[in-house]
Amino acid sequence: MSKREGPVIFSEIKPLTGLRKALEMSGEAVLEVIKSSNLKGRGGAGFPTGLKWGFAASDSDEHKYVVCNADEGEPGTFKDRVLLSEYPLLMLEGMVIAGYVIGADRGYVYLRGEYKGLKKELERVISEMRENKALGEDILGKKGFNFDIEIKMGAGAYICGEETALIESMEGQRGEPRNRPPFPVNTGFLGFPTVVNNVETMSVVPHILVKGADWFKAIGTEKSAGTKILSVSGDCVKPGVYEVPFGMTVEEVLKMVGAEDTKAVQVGGASGVCVGKDEFGREISFEDLPTGGSFIILNSGRNLLDMVKNFLEFFNEESCGQCTPCREGVPVLIEGLELIKKEECNERYLKDLFSLCETLQCSSKCGLGQSAPNAFVSVLDKFKDEYKLSTKIKKETVFNGQ
Ligand code: SF4
Repeated sequence: MSKREGPVIFSEIKPLTGLRKALEMSGEAVLEVIKSSNLKGRGGAGFPTGLKWGFAASDSDEHKYVVCNADEGEPGTFKDRVLLSEYPLLMLEGMVIAGYVIGADRGYVYLRGEYKGLKKELERVISEMRENKALGEDILGKKGFNFDIEIKMGAGAYICGEETALIESMEGQRGEPRNRPPFPVNTGFLGFPTVVNNVETMSVVPHILVKGADWFKAIGTEKSAGTKILSVSGDCVKPGVYEVPFGMTVEEVLKMVGAEDTKAVQVGGASGVCVGKDEFGREISFEDLPTGGSFIILNSGRNLLDMVKNFLEFFNEESCGQCTPCREGVPVLIEGLELIKKEECNERYLKDLFSLCETLQCSSKCGLGQSAPNAFVSVLDKFKDEYKLSTKIKKETVFNGQ
């Protein structure tokens, strides 16, 4: 395999130099570097990493935990698999640095059930770190800093990518999101303060320590520092995993991967939004077009309604069923979409469906239900040429009884 290239994660760095640098400093000083770098969580939500670590660091519980969320389950996203298999040390090193900052004694990699094939190699790298004193007691000679990492396996549920469901699953319960507050940084795994960051976020940390917060901030945009790793799939000549600076436009990504005749791009996977040609000038960034990493390219031969249906069926299957809008609303959207495909949906019912989407977005308990209608809304709203509405009034299709 040819060497990957990119400005941050795919750039050169010697193993464990980030950790060595961190251990020369106090935990507070390392936290300041992370805060000043403007690093935000790469899972999609973009919560400032330094702020999250700071909350856990200020807690004085006897145990604290660092969890790396390696439950990459978003359809169309496969970049963490590359990081886990080709750059595992970088992620593990980032976890040890997080442990040092917050004062944790243990870290866990929550590995997606479908990635069980990666477990053996990850365990080998963890053992090697122990041999090199990068895990265990008095890490790299730092007296009193004791930290170790183990792997916990997921069992294939998409919802366990949500951090509180992930923690439930780690505790041996059914993976269902918890009510918030309290937040995991205060009351997380086994009730102790827990920092959860995804693989990409952890992998950036050693680079920031070695090259500095200013270097990192100089890449990307003012509000989105650094880079994003994209999983590019669909109708293009060069699909794959790319590291791009935040601020790159959709058009530039399409050019980079040799996409022609592109009708739409689904940015952010099943839970993301669909953009058409008139939005190809938009930038990949937290402030414009955020993405957890998925970039699905659709050419003019694709049926966007089929894509939306696939996504809705996926969410219906993966919903934990805890709250009504998500449990009951997604099946109604699937039925509605069927009617739209058969040209049996009138304007009034479509309006009802949009209002149902709003209910899901505003009152579902977790991100799954909140984002489940995103593709529906963006495709039905922006790609009106893709479907034809019925002019007939069909009372039985109105779900709210009006
Ligand atoms: Fe479960 Fe869906 Fe409610 Fe999330 S939104 S808690 S997945 S039912």
